[in-house]
Amino acid sequence: MNKKADGRDRREFLQSGFLGTAAASLAITSTSHVIAQSVPNATEPEVTNEVDVLVVGGGTAGHVAAIQAGRAGAKTLIVERGSQLGGTTTTGGVAFPGLFDAWGKQVIAGIGWELVRESVELDGGKLPNFAKVPQRHWQNQVYTNQFLYAILAEEKCAQAGVEIAYYEFPQSVTKVDNGWQVDCVGFGTQRRVRCKQIIDCTGGAEVVGMLGFERLREEERQPGSYLFMLGKEHEPGRNQIHRLYVHGADSTNSRTATRANMTGRQSILDRVRKENKRLMHLQPETGFRESFRIQGETLITVNDYTSGRIFDDAISYAFYPVDLHTKTGVKPKPLKPGKVPTIPLSALIPKGSRNIIVAGRCVSSDRLANSGLRVQASCMGMGQAAGVAATLAAKSDTTPLEVPLEEIHALLRDHGQIIPEKA
Ligand SMILES: Cc1cc2nc3c(=O)[nH]c(=O)nc-3n(C[C@H](O)[C@H](O)[C@H](O)COP(=O)(O)OP(=O)(O)OC[C@H]3O[C@@H](n4cnc5c(N)ncnc54)[C@H](O)[C@@H]3O)c2cc1C
Repeated sequence: MNKKADGRDRREFLQSGFLGTAAASLAITSTSHVIAQSVPNATEPEVTNEVDVLVVGGGTAGHVAAIQAGRAGAKTLIVERGSQLGGTTTTGGVAFPGLFDAWGKQVIAGIGWELVRESVELDGGKLPNFAKVPQRHWQNQVYTNQFLYAILAEEKCAQAGVEIAYYEFPQSVTKVDNGWQVDCVGFGTQRRVRCKQIIDCTGGAEVVGMLGFERLREEERQPGSYLFMLGKEHEPGRNQIHRLYVHGADSTNSRTATRANMTGRQSILDRVRKENKRLMHLQPETGFRESFRIQGETLITVNDYTSGRIFDDAISYAFYPVDLHTKTGVKPKPLKPGKVPTIPLSALIPKGSRNIIVAGRCVSSDRLANSGLRVQASCMGMGQAAGVAATLAAKSDTTPLEVPLEEIHALLRDHGQIIPEKA
């Protein structure tokens, strides 16, 4: 926008706009234009896709899985029920991903790290020095601008040839020759997808549940949190947002999620009235810490986690304290020096399944192990591994668990990921 308008400075110009008939001028000065490409056959409600890999859920793990699959040459589609990528990292506002490092070195890299690093650099932010072991674990979490992150993720999907379908979710999943038929619905859209492999990145393993495979869930779950800012501005990528614990928050279905969101928002409104402060920032929905986990071919126990067990089929590291939030708060239990847990491929495979793999917080694990495994860098590591395994399985008409591990490791390394090694 020009600094000078009509020979006067901008402030004068805006003032005259408010005073005179210049409301229209104000709108013109504050509007820029871009044209969205038209969608082919946009009035036709039925759409079909034939892809190698379908990623359901474009959240923390899902967009990484899809970018990886696309970059490795798989025809890939993401179906995401929300309106942007990033899930809890962006829509939930938990934009301080961790932990990419352990004990003085980086242990998770690849596509998730590429996105985090680029969004920090574009935002003029600061990256932690991983050579330094922090006193408190959260000091090496990376403050990230949630808005930039979501857009960069979209750009990287486009560059990798990944198609994105927002506002849609699967309604039925049917086994067919050579894969799956997944019928999805969105407003004004019914989409029939034929795919060889599904990557379930819905957070709560929703596709796995639809298929009837076993899932685990606690009677009492960790609270969710609604993120907001009262009284002072939130600076994305610089500071953390206030968190309101929403006890009982349950992401099982649209009804339970609606209840959590409305409860959180009403409580924030009550605080605005009580504290007489301005509401400066509000995420669109609650962040859910815990819901369903899969019962996988392997289940990671808290002992596996805290002992830093290196699984024979490890595909990624994970690093974070055991971090269980309760009614009274959280007391993180840091890992012992030198311990770095790993995630086996078989913990991403629903027990007894073929042609479906998960990534993210629904990883097969007991509750305490999950409280550490659920963090963002680990979810991104799982996402990238699932993207590789599903792509290689689709290419060789097999199932992810039967792809030779060396091939998975080699492709992950080619795409910048760090592979756990036995000491
Ligand atoms: C309040 C809070 C604080 C946290 N603090 C930290 C922290 O400081 N550092 C850290 O690293 N981690 C933190 N975590 C943990 C971490 O953010 C999450 O565990 C992680 O982001 C989960 O990633 P995910 O990919 O499994 O799920 P999500 O990121 O939640 O993604 C799931 C995606 O799937 C979509 N989806 C769901 N169902 C469907 C469906 N049926 N069809 C289509 N799409 C669907 C959702 O819309 C969403 O986009 C925190 C979590 C919360 C809630």
